[in-house]
Amino acid sequence: QKAEWAKLVNEKTISADNHHVELVANIGSPNDLKAVIENGGEGVGLFRTEFLYMGRDQLPSEEEQFNAYKAVLEGLNGKPVVIRTLDIGGDKKLPYLSLPEELNPFLGVRAIRLCLIEQDIFRTQLRALLRASNYGNLKIMFPMIATLDEFREAKKIFTEEKQKLLADGQQVSDQIELGIMVEIPSTAVLADQFAKEVDFFSIGTNDLIQYTMAADRMNQGVSYLYQPYSPSILRLVKMVIDAAHAEGKWAGMCGEMAGDETAIPLLLGLGLDEFSMSATSILRARSQIRKLKKTAMEELTKTVLQMQTTSQVIEAVHQATK
Ligand code: PEP
Ligand code: MG
Repeated sequence: QKAEWAKLVNEKTISADNHHVELVANIGSPNDLKAVIENGGEGVGLFRTEFLYMGRDQLPSEEEQFNAYKAVLEGLNGKPVVIRTLDIGGDKKLPYLSLPEELNPFLGVRAIRLCLIEQDIFRTQLRALLRASNYGNLKIMFPMIATLDEFREAKKIFTEEKQKLLADGQQVSDQIELGIMVEIPSTAVLADQFAKEVDFFSIGTNDLIQYTMAADRMNQGVSYLYQPYSPSILRLVKMVIDAAHAEGKWAGMCGEMAGDETAIPLLLGLGLDEFSMSATSILRARSQIRKLKKTAMEELTKTVLQMQTTSQVIEAVHQATK
C-alpha cells in the first residue's frame, strides 16, 4: 500500500469522476516543511503560529516571526500557505503573559479575542506577515471568530498596518486573502453573511465539535460526544460550504476530521474544496479520493443529512464505500 501511495506524490487529487480538490498540510513550524513536500502536500492549510510563542520566556520579535513566515512561504515555492494568527488561551498558555485565571478557559479570552485586546501583540504579528507576503502565496486567517464585528475589527487592524508599511516605502503583496476559521457554531450558522466579507473559510472541527456538543475536547469523560459524523455537525459543515460557494469563495477544513477516512467521502460529497491534515495522512487521503466518485458521494451525503444518529451515518458510509 505504501508503495502505491508513494507514486501519488506528484499527482493532483482528483476523484474517479474528475473532480479536483486540494490536499494541504497542517504545520507548527518551518521544520515541518520537509514532511509536507515529501508527502506531496499541495500547500499549507494551517500554520499554527502559537508554537513560535511557546517554550520561551518572551514574545517573539517581529524579525523572528518574519524569518519563520518567510521560510515557510519560500519553502513552498508559490504554493498556497494559510497562516493563522495567534491562537493562545484555552489549553495553550504563555507563562510570560500574565493573563487572568479563568473558570472556563475554552470559553474565555483566547485567540482573536486576546489579539483584539492585546493589540501590540497582534499588530507585530500582522506586520511580520505583511512583510513576508512578498515571498510566496500568503493567506491569513483569524481563529475563533464568533461575530462579524470581530472579523471587521481584525481586518481594520490588518489594513492599518498594511497602510503604515506602504507609507514607509515597504513592499507588500496585494494578493493576500483574508479568511476565518469556522470553529464556533454562531459563525457556522451565520456563514452566509460572513461569506460576503471574507475571502475563504477553514472549518476547525476540533473546536466546532467541542462547542456544538458542549463537550470539552480534553475531557475523556465526555469524549463519546466528540462525533464528527453526527448529522448535526455534518449539517453545520454543509451550511459553511454552501455559503462560501454561493459567494464564489472557497471552503477548507483544517480540523482532524479533514484527514479522517470515514469523513473524507462525506466531505467530498459536501463539496469541500481544500482538506488540510497532518502531512503523513496526505498520500493515504489522495489514494482514497482517487477511488471515490463525487456524484455518488453527493447522493450518500443527501441521505446521511436526514439520519438521526452517528452510528447510522458510519454504517451508511461503510456500505457506500466498501
Ligand atoms: C480546530 O479547532 O479544528 C483547529 C484546527 O484548531 P486547533 O486544533 O489548533 O484549535
Ligand atoms: Mg481551534
